[in-house]
Amino acid sequence: MTATIAAVDTRLITVPLTRPWGPDVTEISVVAVDVTDSSGAVGHGFSWTPSIGARAVQALLDHDIASAAIGRDAEPDVWRALWEHLHEAGGGGVTTIALAGLDLALWDLRARRADRSVTDLLGRRHASLPAYGSGVNLHYSLDDLVGQVERWVADGFTAVKFKVGSPDIARDVERVAAVRDVLGPDRTLMIDANQRWSLEKATDAMGRLAEFSPAWIEEPLRADDIAGHAELRRRIDVPIAFGENRHTWYQFRDAIDAGAVDVIQPNVIRVGGITPFLEIAELARDRGAQLAPHLLPELSSQLSYALPEETWVEDVESAGFGELGALAEPTGLRIADGRATGGPALGLGIRFR
Ligand code: MG
Repeated sequence: MTATIAAVDTRLITVPLTRPWGPDVTEISVVAVDVTDSSGAVGHGFSWTPSIGARAVQALLDHDIASAAIGRDAEPDVWRALWEHLHEAGGGGVTTIALAGLDLALWDLRARRADRSVTDLLGRRHASLPAYGSGVNLHYSLDDLVGQVERWVADGFTAVKFKVGSPDIARDVERVAAVRDVLGPDRTLMIDANQRWSLEKATDAMGRLAEFSPAWIEEPLRADDIAGHAELRRRIDVPIAFGENRHTWYQFRDAIDAGAVDVIQPNVIRVGGITPFLEIAELARDRGAQLAPHLLPELSSQLSYALPEETWVEDVESAGFGELGALAEPTGLRIADGRATGGPALGLGIRFR
């Protein structure tokens, strides 16, 4: 008999960043979610929203998700019905971020019932994956940025990503030139504007940055502006990446079909968890878009090991949950010499202190 969901318990956790993401981003928030099934087994998941909305996410879990989930099968297949239930509060955003906590806990339960890791339950296809060094560093001085890139090179990364989108494009040009200088011609350089440009500014900036051969420009415009990205993509030759601020399969489909994007970057939590993430990965495959999961290396890597295509693991410097000391036990993920290997032996294996 299938076990049913008996209880959903949440805990709001604040994790200080050892390397702040900006003057106003010195800590991130996680909502740990425990799901107890009718047999008494407990699955561990989490929701994550670094600086905005953690209390709203926790309230949705405690009030709207718990009451709708209790009594249903303790299986990830409940995702669609719960997403439809929450939809009045938004098809994506805090609703999907909150739902991810439950979905992850249900995948953890499913894998542990099978005495396997989530990766092995899905079907492992890769023993290791390429990883890139990533920095939230627009506020860094040029020297600090160059120092960070030198650390990545010393650590064996062959690909790095850093921020652009300075008020003055000349500052971006100077920084991208300096990073390309450290990397040399053969390492991969990606740049991320975090939605800071208008269409005209992006066109101008990319006209000046293309000579440094970025592998992609990430979030050049507001993530909502699909028509703008499609127009920019007609104007420039550098591939366009986005997706960390898109929340549903439908939003990804429409962006790809509008010709707005080359590389889609779903965040496993923001899209609602593992269940919708796998559907979005399949969409990318069907449509011929490149997939590059956003952040959360300890989680994203476990799913990427099981995908047919080889995808990047994004490793933001000093920002892994393990590195931040937030976990009750190590996940087993190792990132060294530009490759990600390892993961938990059982379940999802991400449990917060
Ligand atoms: Mg980004």
